[in-house]
Amino acid sequence: MKIGFIGLGNMGAPMARNLAQAGHDVTGYDMATVTVDGVSNARTAAEAATGADVVITMLPNGDILRAVAGQVIPAMQKGAVLLDCSTVDVESARAVAADADAAGLLPLDAPVSGGVGGAAAGTLTFMVGGSEAGYTKALPLFETMGQKSVHCGASGNGQAAKICNNMILGVTMIATCEAFALADKLGLDRQAMFDVVSTSSGYSWTMNAYCPAPGIGPKSPADNGYIPGFAAELMLKDLRLSQQAAEASDADTPLGQAAMALYEQFVEEEDGKGRDFSAMLPRFEKRGRG
Ligand code: NAD
Repeated sequence: MKIGFIGLGNMGAPMARNLAQAGHDVTGYDMATVTVDGVSNARTAAEAATGADVVITMLPNGDILRAVAGQVIPAMQKGAVLLDCSTVDVESARAVAADADAAGLLPLDAPVSGGVGGAAAGTLTFMVGGSEAGYTKALPLFETMGQKSVHCGASGNGQAAKICNNMILGVTMIATCEAFALADKLGLDRQAMFDVVSTSSGYSWTMNAYCPAPGIGPKSPADNGYIPGFAAELMLKDLRLSQQAAEASDADTPLGQAAMALYEQFVEEEDGKGRDFSAMLPRFEKRGRG
């Protein structure tokens, strides 16, 4: 396929490289000067989009996505797929999809989980909103860039799935960390705590697969000085998107709200920026109730 790829950052560059390696004709564009193996460079986003079967965007936020969509939609040929893999607010995803739809394109919002490692290894998971026709057309690309894709329904539903999942993740990580900190204060050994919880009703992905306590459970960023992994500021971004969506849809999300406030404090006022989101554990460890 002829693919335009806009946004060749930490995630976009390895995704574009994997598509080129699989034999697709990939033309890339980024505001910054970036060279990616096998990907030719366009001078503008519109140039990268011209004549493409699929235009992929991997950008920082909804405002930038809206601006880039304004440039690429008029340049795209009817029936082409506009595939946004960024994590953005549901409203921006739906607004861009409506514009693309009106221009005779097939819009998809397909945020990913799996991080930079997953992008490099081609093992991302895609959560996809948009038409069945668009999803079917993009499926071979999901299979190249990732190992799993789930079609979640209409436009915006990919973003909805992503922020709901990550709201659970943020809340659960905090719960796991504060429980470890309480266990410490009660004199309960961390290994015993893990052995019980990981096989009891408190188990979760954060405890069983990504344990925030160093030296306990399978290898995780806690075993590597809390180098991300999944950085606390990216968790904060997703929690903010979840609360923006909750406000817009009048959903009551008190724990999502509390998790956002805690990560905000951790990233903006404490030492959380640049650390893995599981570094909440050393944060709780140092504190008392006051
Ligand atoms: P990044 O900042 O490394 O990359 C974004 C790229 O977009 C940059 O290279 C930037 O120059 C480019 N860009 C910005 N404005 C542009 C414009 N107007 N035109 C063209 N290019 C422009 O970010 P990233 O880590 O690659 O993340 C991209 C998206 O993926 C974000 O929405 C992020 O939330 C999401 N995401 C990231 C991760 C992760 O672990 N990094 C995991 C899952 C999802």
